[in-house]
Amino acid sequence: MNAVWKDIQGDEGVKALLREYCLTGRVPHALLFAGEAGAGKTRMALEFFKALNCQEHAAEACGRCPSCVKADSGSHPDIHVVRPEEGKRWIHVEKVRETIQEATLRPFEARTRCILVEPAEALNVQSANALLKTLEEPPGNTVIVLVSHRPSLILPTVASRCRTLRFHGAKQPPRVQEEEGGEAPSSLYGLVDEEVRRDVIGLLFGADPALLARKYSEQADVDLLDDVLTVSEAIARDVLVSRTAPGRVLNRELLDMGLGRCGLERVEEILEVVSAIRRGVNENVNVRVGATELFARISRLSGLAGG
Ligand SMILES: [Zn+2]
Repeated sequence: MNAVWKDIQGDEGVKALLREYCLTGRVPHALLFAGEAGAGKTRMALEFFKALNCQEHAAEACGRCPSCVKADSGSHPDIHVVRPEEGKRWIHVEKVRETIQEATLRPFEARTRCILVEPAEALNVQSANALLKTLEEPPGNTVIVLVSHRPSLILPTVASRCRTLRFHGAKQPPRVQEEEGGEAPSSLYGLVDEEVRRDVIGLLFGADPALLARKYSEQADVDLLDDVLTVSEAIARDVLVSRTAPGRVLNRELLDMGLGRCGLERVEEILEVVSAIRRGVNENVNVRVGATELFARISRLSGLAGG
């Protein structure tokens, strides 16, 4: 049998999150796979594409259908790989333009086309600029995956437009192992800064939204802010799954809060602010105002839950 998720070692958190995207259909348009060379990022991107497009299974690749087979053999017409030419350091701007042009057409066969940029640090100012608008408003049915071995070298304008997933390869980050109960690590813990997670969760236990907004807007750290948004989305998701599948709640602290009693519109509100902030970060919109609003909405959840 060909590769399926379970054959990829390590990075359970990333895998779980990508599966979740496939299952819910809420796939971010631009993802940044960051981690050391050899951590399996490109392989994971391929597996993600297969899972999104498998003709047999949802959220899982069968490895046998025409879509899976073509993807494995490198002949799938809807996987576009953008990389530097042989012996060159930078990705040529023309290559980016060409790929974007093709992506304005409907995918040939796939439900979701994938544009893979590797490594993303090979985008120079010119080729990065050519990609920016597409990162912001990608054509329908397209996910752009940037693979980076050295994410600190990526132009901030590019990185800030992507959802970053951090890879650790077969070696797991310590905080995943520290998790109690010996259960499968939640998809979050391997990805976000634990302090950020605790801070945002704290809002449901009485922390001051304005104070926290000041903390994260003053640091002006794109990675941290991205973590804040990821945790906020996870809380929204937890509210949803707590009704039907409490076992899948990621933030275990929230289990006994009765979050299932919150209305769906509260979840929508949170997700709206999150995406507004994501758009705003790129235009230097006031992050503090956005974060204050977001944190206020999250802290309101606990009142609604009556917990
Ligand atoms: Zn398949």
